[in-house]
Amino acid sequence: MPIGFNATISAPHMHATCLELLKDHLQPGMHALDVGSGSGYLTACFAMMVGPEGRAVGIEHIPEIVASAIENVQKSAVAPPLKDGSLSFHVADGRLGFPDAAPYDAIHVGAAAPEIPQPLLDQLKPGGRMVIPVGTYLQDLQVVDKNADGSISIRNNASVRYVPLTSRSAQLQDP
Ligand code: SAH
Repeated sequence: MPIGFNATISAPHMHATCLELLKDHLQPGMHALDVGSGSGYLTACFAMMVGPEGRAVGIEHIPEIVASAIENVQKSAVAPPLKDGSLSFHVADGRLGFPDAAPYDAIHVGAAAPEIPQPLLDQLKPGGRMVIPVGTYLQDLQVVDKNADGSISIRNNASVRYVPLTSRSAQLQDP
């Protein structure tokens, strides 16, 4: 479903799949980053799972989309974490991650990247997991695990179709 500005809310089964893949990394007290947070729905789920001692951060580069995510969250069960700061949304280029709350146990990217952005790999905790759609037209949902020694293991979970992880100007130009 469109949410404006050439963005779409992800299909419910994709949100469910990503939560399943990340659930061990969304335990109470853990830190989670949602890049391309859009509607804020998945970031809100992260906040519920990591609880008040954890941290859930949504990054989105369209200010109007962030404003509507905040408005929606304020009407939801996760209004308290938004107020106390354990859930936050920021207008920024998500390809750079969000170093302030790094390292992350869980990173989710809700838009397809041509390749995995290095800052996101850097901000993943050893033992942490990232779920990211990688590709342009043909995309794979990749599960990226950072091992205890810092090495990276990647497997493809499924073929998917996401909007691109791109610059704000490129997103707003494409019809
Ligand atoms: N899980 C979200 C997905 C929204 S679609 C939801 O279901 O609502 C992907 C989002 O990524 C869009 O809102 C788009 O504006 C955003 N996006 C694309 N490139 C980005 C970038 N470089 N930095 C931050 N957000 C980006």
